[in-house]
Formats: sequence, C-alpha cells, structure tokens
Amino acid sequence: MLVVNARWPRRRLWLGAALACIGSTAAAAADNNSIPPVIACDRLQSEAGAAMRVSEAQSRPAAGGMAAHCEVIAYLDERTGAEGQKLAIGLHLRLPQAWNGRFVFQGQGGTDGVLGSGDALPGGGQPSALNQGYATVTTDAGHSNAPGPLGGASFGLDPQARIDFGYRADDVVTRQAKRFIQAYYGRLPKYSYFLGCSNGGRHGMVITQRFPEHFDGVAAGAPAFRMPEKGLSGAAVTQGFAAIAPKAPDGRPILSQALSQADMDLLSRAIVQSCDEADGLADGIIDNVPACRFSPRALQCPAEKTASCLSAAQVGALENYFQGPTTAQGRRIYASYPYDSGIATEGWRRWTLGTAPDSRVNAFNVSFGASLAYLYMTPPHAPLANDADAVYDFYRTVDVTEAHARIFGTSAAMPESSVQTISANSVDLSTFRQRRGKLLLYHGVSDPTFSALDTLDWYKRLTNAAGGEKETADFARLFLVPGMNHCAGGPATDSFDVLTPLVAWVEQGRAPERIDARAGAKTPWPDRSRPLCPYPRQARYLGQGSIEQAANFSCAVL
Ligand code: CA
Repeated sequence: MLVVNARWPRRRLWLGAALACIGSTAAAAADNNSIPPVIACDRLQSEAGAAMRVSEAQSRPAAGGMAAHCEVIAYLDERTGAEGQKLAIGLHLRLPQAWNGRFVFQGQGGTDGVLGSGDALPGGGQPSALNQGYATVTTDAGHSNAPGPLGGASFGLDPQARIDFGYRADDVVTRQAKRFIQAYYGRLPKYSYFLGCSNGGRHGMVITQRFPEHFDGVAAGAPAFRMPEKGLSGAAVTQGFAAIAPKAPDGRPILSQALSQADMDLLSRAIVQSCDEADGLADGIIDNVPACRFSPRALQCPAEKTASCLSAAQVGALENYFQGPTTAQGRRIYASYPYDSGIATEGWRRWTLGTAPDSRVNAFNVSFGASLAYLYMTPPHAPLANDADAVYDFYRTVDVTEAHARIFGTSAAMPESSVQTISANSVDLSTFRQRRGKLLLYHGVSDPTFSALDTLDWYKRLTNAAGGEKETADFARLFLVPGMNHCAGGPATDSFDVLTPLVAWVEQGRAPERIDARAGAKTPWPDRSRPLCPYPRQARYLGQGSIEQAANFSCAVL
C-alpha cells in the first residue's frame, strides 16, 4: 500500500540524516533568559470553544529526545465533508518549559493529511527547534489521509478541504497557535518563523504571499508552489517513459525498466563530464548551472542499443522530461529540469520510474495521479478504484491537454481552480517585504519532482517585481544545492541548518552570504563540505587548500 505519509518519512521533511543532539551553534542565537509558563498545561483545555476541540493538553517531562514541554493537540472546524468523510484542521503544538520567546511552524510534505510530530527540524544535524527552546506547531492542513492510494487525495473532492489545504489552514493554525502561546506564557512570540520543504515549502510561499503579517522569517525548500501544474506534467512525463518501457504479462508497461541503472549512470557521467568544470573545478559538482549545455542526443546510439549509448526512444523520453512536456497546442505545462549530477540516484528514480520489478508501479509521480484526479482537476475525475493499478492506468492514459484545462477549471461547487487555490506563484511580496520579513529559499538542482529551474524562474520574476538584485537580496535569497534530489539525497552537500541563518537575518540583520553544508555518508566524498551560495553567486574554489573543505571556497559571480 502506497500512502502519502509513507512517501515523506520524517527524515526527508528536512535535510540531513538523524537528528543528533550535538553541540549547537544555534543555541547561541537563543535568549539566555528563558520564559516560563504562567499557567499549567492542562489549563489550555479551557481554550476550547464552539469551533475548536482540544483533545490533548498534557505536560510532558523531558523524554524521547524532547525537552520538557506542554503538548497540545486540537481540532478546528470539525465537520462532515462532501463525501461523508470527517474533516477538521488538526494542530499539534509543543510549548517548551524553557521558552526562548520564538515560534516555529513546521510545514509538512506530500499533500499533508498527517498530524506530524511538530518539534520542527532545522536540518544540518541541529537539535529540533523545540529542543532549542522554540514553541512549535504543525498541522494536517484540514484532513486526515484515508487508507489506500486514493487516501491522500480524496479530500480534494470536498471544496472547503481543498481551500483549507491550499492556504486557509496556514492562517487559522497560526492564529490559534499564537493564542495558545499567549495563554500559556502570558505573551505573544517575539519572532515567528516558518520552515518547510516540498509541500511545506509551498506553504511557506503561501504565507509570504497571502498571510505576510504572520511570520518574520520563512525557509522554503524545494517548494511545491506549482503543485497542480507539476502533477499534470508528471503524467505526460510518465506517459513518455511508459511508451518506451517493456510490457508486463498484464499488458502494463514496466516503468522502472524504461531506463536501466546503467543507462542513468551513463547519462549522469556524460552530464558531469560536460558541465562539471564550467565552475572552474572538476569535483563532481556542477555549480555553474546556467552554463550547463547538454543534450542526451550526444549519447544516442548510431544503430543498435548498446551499453555505451541510449536508444533514440530513450533520448526522446528523456528530452520530454528535461525540456518539460507541452499540451497539444504547444503550451508548456510546467517547467524544464536542469541537467545535473544527481539523476542516477535512487532519489531521482523513486520519483520518476520507481523500483518495482513488475507493472505494480511504485514511482511517487504515479502515486500523485490520485491527486491529479481528485485534488487538481475541476470537476474532479470520476471515482477510481482504490488500488495502485487503477491510479497507474489513469495517470498513464489521461488526456493531458484535456486535464490541463481542468486544473484551471472551475465549477459551481469549486469557484476557484486548483491552480488558484493550491499554487503560490505570485511575486507580489510587497507586504512581507515592508514588514521586514525574510524569505530563504533552497532547492536541489537534481530534484526530480519540483524543478529548481521553476524556483529560479520565480526568483527572477520576483527580482524584476522587487526592483533589482540588491533590492531582492535584502529580503529574499535562493540557495541552489547542486546534486541534491528532492529536499535531500544525491551526490550533494545536503546537510545544512536553515533556521540559524534565518534567525540571524531577521533578528540581527545579518543576511546569509553563504550557508555551509556537509555531504552525506552515501556520497562519493563523505568528508566534503561546501558553501551554498545565494543566487546568482556560486561556490568558487579559492585555488589552494583541500577541495573537501568549505573554507577554501567563496561565493562569487562566475
Ligand atoms: Ca565543479
């Protein structure tokens, strides 16, 4: 059974691997004088009212790696949805005994629907925000995922649940969390932050665009800010790969075999060979993304397919993916993808092709077929059977041009299209900026699902709207992470802390000129570190000292 929450295991919500309680530079940013609660935790039960049920308000001693805190679980706007499902906006709040006066909202991945742990992981092996003294909250964004492949999408049949997921939960959860904080500590947070990757990154962008008064700083990773467009583009990409895949006895394409691991290794090596040195250093990392000009046609077999080349059909399917599919009228559905070093990894394959040896497809893109059917299209698709084959059959056969009209479609019941409700594509951040809010964006260049080029395009449009590079860098910076897959993984320095630089930017006016990051144990160079640089700057080797150490690199415009 493939369910949405299984796709985003906890460690992938954030960067880096296990949460190791090591010495924290972030602790230096916290106040020395912590703020104690003014009431007992269980008194927060009295916050309940007609629109909110408090299911839990319990004092928790330090245990299980979490500092002593007051844990609150509450449900707002409980109701029965259009399909008879029980709906509510859940929130999960943790209020530390020793509060640093700050608040962190952790956005979740997938299509939400899971009330996460909510102690907020800042990445880079840093202690959770809770353990650093922050009050933390997370939300299921208005629904709880049901079992089966349709379980993370069926809430989309309810118009209000779409809106709650799209943006409303960000507002009401923030307001309610701040009310709990005020009741518990006798004051509001001095500073409020939002952290999230993928769909959590989308929520971060929603906040800067729709609710700019709620947060002082937002860190948005690999933002799913054009989720319906990407969900549809994924169908066209899947159809391209399915068309070249061998068929199983049941007649369905074996998607995982469209390209073998050896094929992807061949492609990845050719890309690195072609683009690695454009940044001045052959180190297996392509820092100069804009300079990378590559075409898989360079690998096309002159005749029969062999181990050292790709078939014409494979080249065509890859171009369809990298260039980005279009509708029958030639309109691009989503974005193109950069040629980068991290496409031969499991973190790329598990999204695009899956690993299943037969036609029981387990690619994450395909599992999002359910979201296309129920959450992105208006009117929604007719009911599908709640099994993976039905979702695969829908996704690999849906008429992409017709579905394109429906992600922009409206109905009497759904007066907003899903693109209006869910996407967060505006570059009007004027209120956020006026309030001196700071937005820290990051995106893996080898992200197979949400394209780093789409985030880069948005950032360039923001730059135009905001009046120039310097003006934009004063409140919004984009850090590309070469080699990194979706939120983590790949041959990349993918372990870094986003909260500490965000706090320094907001509270001390120290803008992040670089964020030092470490490579993971599974990379070819586990001892490597690198600066991540704010666009348009890139990491540049200073010419002496170990190339494994970030200290020997600067951030420069090449
Ligand atoms: Ca390089």
